[in-house]
Amino acid sequence: MIEHVIGGCVCPGKRCPGCEQVKCCGAFNRSLLRLDGLQVYCRECSREKKREDRSKHRDRAREENKRWRQNHREYERERKKPYIRMYQEKNREKYREQSRAERTMRRIETNTENR
Ligand SMILES: [Zn+2]
Ligand SMILES: [Zn+2]
Repeated sequence: MIEHVIGGCVCPGKRCPGCEQVKCCGAFNRSLLRLDGLQVYCRECSREKKREDRSKHRDRAREENKRWRQNHREYERERKKPYIRMYQEKNREKYREQSRAERTMRRIETNTENR
């Protein structure tokens, strides 16, 4: 026995491959592309599928967004390069001092190693 959606419906029903249930033809959306004039999946399943497609689409959109952000970040880095250089120029003295200190440290280390 199938549950008819439409009152007084006497259709033989149609099996939905999604939920594997024989459902009333009224539970299927109409499709002009199909021979029986009904879609393959019942309304519930096609709704579910649509939601799935949408979430898939959202995933893809997120993926693309991520890729865009990555590219954008590289672009930003390129764009900021001159500023970074400027900043480095400004701090060059500091850097030099630091590297000098590092070199001294290394010298002390190697000296102690040689001893
Ligand atoms: Zn179904
Ligand atoms: Zn029916």
